[in-house]
Amino acid sequence: MHAPTAPRAPSSGHCIFCDLIRGAGEVSICYEDSVAIAFLDIQPVNPGHVLVVPREHYEVLQDIPKDVGAHLYMVAAKLIPRVQTAAGATDMNIVVNSGAAAGQNVMHYHIHLIPRREGDGFDVPLPFPGSQMPNRQQLDGMAARIGSMLRDPLTNSGMQG
Ligand code: 5GP
Ligand code: ZN
Repeated sequence: MHAPTAPRAPSSGHCIFCDLIRGAGEVSICYEDSVAIAFLDIQPVNPGHVLVVPREHYEVLQDIPKDVGAHLYMVAAKLIPRVQTAAGATDMNIVVNSGAAAGQNVMHYHIHLIPRREGDGFDVPLPFPGSQMPNRQQLDGMAARIGSMLRDPLTNSGMQG
């Protein structure tokens, strides 16, 4: 776990979302304020697929300051019923891919709001069919480990703090 970092230039030197945020590319914005912006995904799962994005460049979940993270989820919560109405879809996936191993392609943190339709072909396959199901002792052990970190002020930082 590492502490939240200040916003920084993208490690690759270029970020498509930073470009969009500073007006250097075509984008369809449905919400904006001083901290967050939300726009339509260019390659949507379904119509109404929205990305909620911090204006500052933070790459992954661990980099996001607590107040910014909370704000992004507040914006997401505000948008969800409107997205549902606009898309004519009550079912939704709220997805964050944080880190390359988790499938993040654009390394500027964002929350996907994905309206879902029966038979749309998209899938978040949970429960995971390849799971090695842990026994109760292993589940309890992991729960205790996480719980003890929550009680330890030294490990409380960032979104988790
Ligand atoms: P990730 O895989 O990083 O979680 O998702 C990145 C998302 O950004 C994808 O759904 C992709 O379609 C979307 N995206 C990539 N480039 C652009 C762009 O230039 N404009 C918009 N609006 N969305 C983009
Ligand atoms: Zn960026």
